[in-house]
Amino acid sequence: MEARNLLKAYCMIPAISGYEGELAYSFLEDIKPFCDETTIDRAGNVIGKIEGNDLSAPTIMIFAHLDSLGFIVRRVEKDGFLQIDRLGGIPEKVLPGCRLKIRSEYGSWHSGVIGPKAHHATPAEEKYKVDLVTSLYVDIGASSDEEVRTLGIEVGCPAVYEPMYTELTGGKVSATFVDDRGGVAALVLIAENLSKSRPEATVYVVGTVWEEFNLRGAMMAARTVKPDIALSIDVMLTGDTPDLRNKFQINIGDGPAVGLYSFHGRGTLNGTLPHEGLFKLAKTAAANAGVPLQRFAGLGILTDMAYLQLEGEGAACLELGFPARYTHSPVEVCDPSDIDKLAILASEMARLVDIDFELDRY
Ligand SMILES: [Zn+2]
Repeated sequence: MEARNLLKAYCMIPAISGYEGELAYSFLEDIKPFCDETTIDRAGNVIGKIEGNDLSAPTIMIFAHLDSLGFIVRRVEKDGFLQIDRLGGIPEKVLPGCRLKIRSEYGSWHSGVIGPKAHHATPAEEKYKVDLVTSLYVDIGASSDEEVRTLGIEVGCPAVYEPMYTELTGGKVSATFVDDRGGVAALVLIAENLSKSRPEATVYVVGTVWEEFNLRGAMMAARTVKPDIALSIDVMLTGDTPDLRNKFQINIGDGPAVGLYSFHGRGTLNGTLPHEGLFKLAKTAAANAGVPLQRFAGLGILTDMAYLQLEGEGAACLELGFPARYTHSPVEVCDPSDIDKLAILASEMARLVDIDFELDRY
């Protein structure tokens, strides 16, 4: 199996936080052949177990979030337009002109567009300003609120960027929801790898919910799995585009990355401090597997690992990632070969863990 095909399939399935079901069951079917047990918990976390050869070795949880960000309908106008609000960190400046899919209460999906003000009628002082999401509106083609409601679209219905996947040159891909369908794809590859060559440790591959909403869906899965070691897989920001050149160290196409510092201070006050022993293990695994290992550290970033690390006695944690550009926009870009290599890295890390792995930080 290859990351590219999995990524393509997963990027086309809408799965906004709280509505992960379709993707969750698709992922569940994909890992089933490689797992000894698969379950889906009440919230929608998908848990696949690959039993290790030594039941006294530490338990490992490798996880990626199923959900993506999106929108919620906030108001239906009399003339059929929808007002929306953000679910998750939507960048408002990319919104005018965006195509959306809105989910009705019946589960059907309907097309809509965020209408930008007609250019010919835009005064000069408005041309370079970003509109708040609350000042925008979605046009689904309806002429009245009654027509909207007949479709089953009401206040509270979710909406997402219209799913898109396209191949760029050089093997790169642009798609909606690369964050974190690339991570979900990696989980399938990891399950496949480990089922062929079983590690000492028991490994759980887990697709988590609610990351883009409140970062805490993974906590519920951790209470079930009770991991001694946790590895998260998510996007990591590159420093290889003209706007971010020299800001971060990692480049697209140069392989997986390890997160050595993430912190979000704007009201959240959380982040992840990596377990040094696990970082050493990542370096050894990368060398063994012949996979390059990039390093990421940056402020303003937070993943569900930050909350998972507080569960139980405190699992040894390390964030793994694949380089991605234009995060949270509808045109995120990645190189699926980075995801293939990330899966090799994480699988090798799992194989290196045995009963002697030092879980304590000090
Ligand atoms: Zn993510």
